[in-house]
Amino acid sequence: MSDTINVAKIFGEDVFNDTVMMERLPKKIYKDLRQTIETGKELDLATADVIAHEMKEWAIEKGATHYTHWFQPLTGVTAEKHDSFISAPLENGKVLMSFSGKELIKGEPDASSFPSGGLRATFEARGYTAWDCTSPAFVRHDAAGATLCIPTAFCSYTGEALDQKTPLLRSMQAINKEALRLIRLFGNTTAKSVTPSVGIEQEYFLVDAKKFRERKDLIYTGRTLFGAMAPKGQEMDDHYFGTIRQRVAAYMKSVNEELWKVGVSSKTQHNEVAPAQHEIAPIYAKANVAVDHNQIIMQTLKRVAHNQGLKCLLHEKPFAGVNGSGKHDNWSLTTDDGKNLLEPGQTPHENIQFLLVLACILKAVDEHADILRESAADPGNDHRLGADEAPPAIISVFLGEQLEDVVEQLVYTGEATTSKSSGTLETGVKTLPHLAKDATDRNRTSPFAFTGNKFEFRMVGSRDSVASPNVVLNTIAAEAFAEVCDILEKTDDFDMEVHDLIKKYFTEHQRIIFNGNGYTDEWVEEAKRRGLPNIKSMVEAIDALTTEKTVAMYERFGVFTRAELESRAEIKYENYAKALNIEARTMIDMASKQFIPSIIKYTKTLADTVIAVQAAGANSEVQVELLNDVSALLKEAEEALKALITSTNKACAMDEGKEQAFYYHDVILPAMENLRTPIDKLEMMVDKEAWPMPSYGDLMFEV
Ligand code: ADP
Ligand code: MG
Repeated sequence: MSDTINVAKIFGEDVFNDTVMMERLPKKIYKDLRQTIETGKELDLATADVIAHEMKEWAIEKGATHYTHWFQPLTGVTAEKHDSFISAPLENGKVLMSFSGKELIKGEPDASSFPSGGLRATFEARGYTAWDCTSPAFVRHDAAGATLCIPTAFCSYTGEALDQKTPLLRSMQAINKEALRLIRLFGNTTAKSVTPSVGIEQEYFLVDAKKFRERKDLIYTGRTLFGAMAPKGQEMDDHYFGTIRQRVAAYMKSVNEELWKVGVSSKTQHNEVAPAQHEIAPIYAKANVAVDHNQIIMQTLKRVAHNQGLKCLLHEKPFAGVNGSGKHDNWSLTTDDGKNLLEPGQTPHENIQFLLVLACILKAVDEHADILRESAADPGNDHRLGADEAPPAIISVFLGEQLEDVVEQLVYTGEATTSKSSGTLETGVKTLPHLAKDATDRNRTSPFAFTGNKFEFRMVGSRDSVASPNVVLNTIAAEAFAEVCDILEKTDDFDMEVHDLIKKYFTEHQRIIFNGNGYTDEWVEEAKRRGLPNIKSMVEAIDALTTEKTVAMYERFGVFTRAELESRAEIKYENYAKALNIEARTMIDMASKQFIPSIIKYTKTLADTVIAVQAAGANSEVQVELLNDVSALLKEAEEALKALITSTNKACAMDEGKEQAFYYHDVILPAMENLRTPIDKLEMMVDKEAWPMPSYGDLMFEV
């Protein structure tokens, strides 16, 4: 094919990255900026002016007309306000292009409508965006032309975080400090920083845009609220890793090209389990960059789909009856000189630093399972967690055979003397190479799995920001590290103390380890016996944000204040209620204006047919039976609709907050289900020509 892509050439061409900075900035300025990026040293305004000027010149060369402070408020998506580079018109009627250091560093969007959970009264609604110079600026090309996007954090006049990024950056500082303390104790004198490395696998669905537009549920809520299962689902496993259809392949090609240009290292792509479901994953990066890149990936998936007559569904559960979408948050800790603290080596039983890090993480996850679970809570994800397709809502840790064996040796004998080796894999075919086996097999049912040299948190929903899971992981790990450092920095017998701590933590927190099948009912029972929390829904999860234990930890590490946590809890309850309210109203709209009228029309056709058949003196039993069945279900639907209208009106009249959110969960959700059931049955009985919208089959199999 002619239009091939030269990846090496285009990669990062629209990014103001280190190479560009080194080339374009005066040496002294470049050095100052590097220092700020690496050590957080404050930038003075004169330096910022020079950087802003060069950034603007570079962006204009790329065709940019506007710049934007790109931020991540608590809406789950990104926000931006565009300003063009033009300055006030000159005497001669012309304009100059300008962009100052102040404009680069600080923005003040009139952002009073973003959720703040009471942190800002409207009369003091100032919100500021502050440049995150550790995540590079880039130029985005779209229908608006080219825009210089500057990643920023968003906070209030009084410095409270109003976004996803500020706490993430704070948590990165916390883990950096405590992890450095820890590795110093083990004799590492060279590392200057420890950063969480994060790699995010993103699942999504693709459907035809024309069919999408015929479904009000997809338009308003991102998921289907009605729909009978197609004759075929995912049972044949033929879609998973299957050959990618040409239309989808062309889509993926454009997505990759756009991502590479803005420096997102898109690496893997394949078909996922459900029909029309796919996955994309970049190579891991520093946590804040990975979080930004995940937002860029989601936006790019949507934009390219739009351009190609497709729609990308990022909702966690677009279709009932087939798998929903999530994202896997791969997390590890890396020093600036490239050492991964989660690398066990060939003989983990001898790798004492690794074992201590592992013990700390087990302890952290066991003690704070509730906030880790909460970090993956969003209204859409409630349909996945625990539904035999995604990990259960119970947090447990999968270590794999080799590490579990080391842990058991330590717990039961006090010493770990061996590491089970992995050996080679024999296929029985001489011409195939012998493959070295991994020391651990995979367990796709575990919510938090050790996969070789990283943990993989698999609960996160496909639409959600991955910032909060990483805030939790960074902070709980920092807390556990701090606790061991406090002890080890004072001890006379370091080796003995380390040994005792590892043994103690493994023993006390062994209950969190589970290597079996997380999808079974037996595990739910077993977890209960072990005392592990099983927090089934988002509304039940939110409380974890404001327990004394949570507040104390976050305040100690400067990640969240109590007020910030309380505001976040409030926003979450409101978001849940709003999301459910939109779903309920969409169902009411579709049932009243589309389904019920279509079904009534269909019963009229049937009734006319019955009369005609009888007039012809023929047997009308089948027609009469169908008419009766359809009419009975129509009545059931009508009653369920009335009930849903009544309860939704009641919910809307309630004050916003926890009680209202629970009402939506406990009352509205079942009422929605009651309406869906008869309509889905009717879909299987009514003439397809008479059905007012595309079916599951049309949506999933005809992309
Ligand atoms: P899977 O087999 O689950 O798809 P991969 O090995 O393809 O897993 O990796 C998934 C993601 O994890 C990718 O984004 C990859 O870059 C990332 N990843 C790999 N190693 C690490 C690591 N040490 N820390 C964090 N993320 C990592
Ligand atoms: Mg994975």
